[in-house]
Amino acid sequence: METDYENRMMTGDPLPEDDGDNPLRPRTLREYIGQTKAKENLSIYIDAARQRREALDHVLLYGPPGLGKTTLAGIIANELGVNFRITSGPALERAGDLAALLNSLDPGDVLLIDEIHRLPRTVEEVLYPAMEDFTIDIVSGKGNGAPTIHLPLPRFTLVGATTRAGQLSAPLRDRFGVVLRLEMYSPDELSAIVLRSASILGVPCDEEGAREIASRSRGTPRIANRLLKRVRDFAQVIGGGPVTRQSARQALDRMEIDELGLDLVDRRMLRAMIEHYNGGPVGLETLAAVIGEESVTIEDVYEPYLMQLGFINRTPRGRVALPAAWQHLGIPYPAGPSDGQMTFDVGPDK
Ligand code: ADP
Repeated sequence: METDYENRMMTGDPLPEDDGDNPLRPRTLREYIGQTKAKENLSIYIDAARQRREALDHVLLYGPPGLGKTTLAGIIANELGVNFRITSGPALERAGDLAALLNSLDPGDVLLIDEIHRLPRTVEEVLYPAMEDFTIDIVSGKGNGAPTIHLPLPRFTLVGATTRAGQLSAPLRDRFGVVLRLEMYSPDELSAIVLRSASILGVPCDEEGAREIASRSRGTPRIANRLLKRVRDFAQVIGGGPVTRQSARQALDRMEIDELGLDLVDRRMLRAMIEHYNGGPVGLETLAAVIGEESVTIEDVYEPYLMQLGFINRTPRGRVALPAAWQHLGIPYPAGPSDGQMTFDVGPDK
């Protein structure tokens, strides 16, 4: 089924049009804007590993898509001066795939496993001794009595990236020495990212234009870069000039991305919650059916930003649209309990 999601501008997941993003990817910690806490910690661990001439401890990066996990993993490798290898949980179908990959690493290399929460169980089990003791166990031959060979591996650094730290098994999570959560970016940080990208792409863009794009980018650098490219096209063709507040506004309004960065799908979801379910609670599956999206997409892509805005809340009985969401859509909040939180104590609407 083709969903709006696949055509969506405002997703933090990569789209084909992001392919040209490579020149925009920061290569060093210094170039990497924001995430101060994660950066400070990492730079200490990287320096220590460098001084001891050892591989860095395994690092788990988690947070919504598009916040810079892959970029940061690449920076770690670059700062350590080692090779950077990338794979993903779903790509490692068999234990042998992982064994072959690990065996091909050079000492100290950084291996990124993206979407590590989707690693098949059998593959995950091979990863435990690899992370802990830098060995893999290979069963040679078939049958119960087949001998197991312990194969030593080079010491490497695993970087696991995930949008869902909660889905990681405890034994896997415990094997990461460094666990960093990436936060959504502030408008100031996103403005700096837009200005940096504009200068790399050779797009004339003033500070106000950058700020306009930043404030509609849902705290996500990948979206900020994508909007910059669309606004550039628009400014060039219609305005015949640089990206300014006015040209950015016109372009973004035309794309139906509102001042807060919500697009048609976000608004449709909130509207469904409010108009059909009186603000909720609405079960995730129901919501997914109503707006025609996968529930994981709702959880990973839409909800983090809507929760950050204080528009929705996750409760044990489902999702609740909070008063700020009603206000944003211009729908009067019903009289009665003034606190959206109260609604989950009353019985289901229908
Ligand atoms: P994730 O792996 O979390 O989905 P990426 O690392 O692929 O996200 O980042 C998406 C894009 O956003 C990158 O291509 C990069 O250009 C940009 N980006 C991410 N983080 C930063 C940052 N801190 N500073 C500047 N640009 C960034």
